[in-house]
Amino acid sequence: MSDRRRLSFETRSQAGLSVEERGYEHLLEFTDVSLSFKGVKALTDVSFHVDDGELFAIIGPNGAGKTSTFNCLNGVYHPQEGDIVWKGSSILRERPDKIAELGIARTFQNIELFPHMTVLENITLGRHVRTHVSWWDGAIWWGRAKREELANRAVVEDIIDLLEIEQWRAYPVALLPYGVQKRVELGRALAMEPELLLLDEPVAGMNLEETEDMARFILDIREELGIAMILVEHDMGLVMDIADRVMVLDFGKRIAIGKPEEVQRDPEVIRAYLGGDLAAT
Ligand code: ADP
Ligand code: MG
Repeated sequence: MSDRRRLSFETRSQAGLSVEERGYEHLLEFTDVSLSFKGVKALTDVSFHVDDGELFAIIGPNGAGKTSTFNCLNGVYHPQEGDIVWKGSSILRERPDKIAELGIARTFQNIELFPHMTVLENITLGRHVRTHVSWWDGAIWWGRAKREELANRAVVEDIIDLLEIEQWRAYPVALLPYGVQKRVELGRALAMEPELLLLDEPVAGMNLEETEDMARFILDIREELGIAMILVEHDMGLVMDIADRVMVLDFGKRIAIGKPEEVQRDPEVIRAYLGGDLAAT
């Protein structure tokens, strides 16, 4: 895609600015985070950062702590140790709704949509964090409410266009193929106009064609909207292809971090994945 589409999105990426202009060094800093559940350590001293517009990936075997990392980031879990800093301020004690409002949106390992609502309705629901009118303002359809409604529609239409789900817009989500449902969930997260998008196993359970489509949409989102992403994946083929940097978790610990080609060569990573996908590549 050569020429950038004009989108109704507020482009909030600060990628071109200097540290002084942005007022922070990294978009997200996850520092020495430890999380445990009744003595079971889900994360131990995990640190990483993500920059504006970066495509950062977290890989690791089942139970490595990938989803727990996301749950810490979006305020569902509160780690016992460490800090999580978003654009220079700690969000360690913030609630999920506040974190969404600050610009961090996510999709889930198991799709969480309203199955009986249409594609359009599900994506529109993602707008609520960006909507500031109360329902009675909306009912009167006046001033701010009207402007917001029109802006919401424009954003939702852009997302439907970007993710190529036009033909499904009026269908209840439950009737759609799995790969399209995953795309709708991505669309709902995008509707929040995030600056950081957390994708939990976006290609899990997909066939090859659906996986390739999803990879293309992830790259389009970065290219056209400049949104930073953390991609969690169990399967690493996709990650090694598209990520800027990769962190590998194993039993809740960071065992490697760096460029895909560096991580791929790391002896500890090869050991953790012994006989798995990576050893085969
Ligand atoms: P991954 O997403 O990499 O497969 P998870 O983050 O889901 O791994 O899990 C990491 C570890 O934390 C596992 O041992 C898991 O059982 C444990 N864990 C995660 N969430 C909870 C929870 N709510 N209660 C107890 N243990 C949990
Ligand atoms: Mg998981």
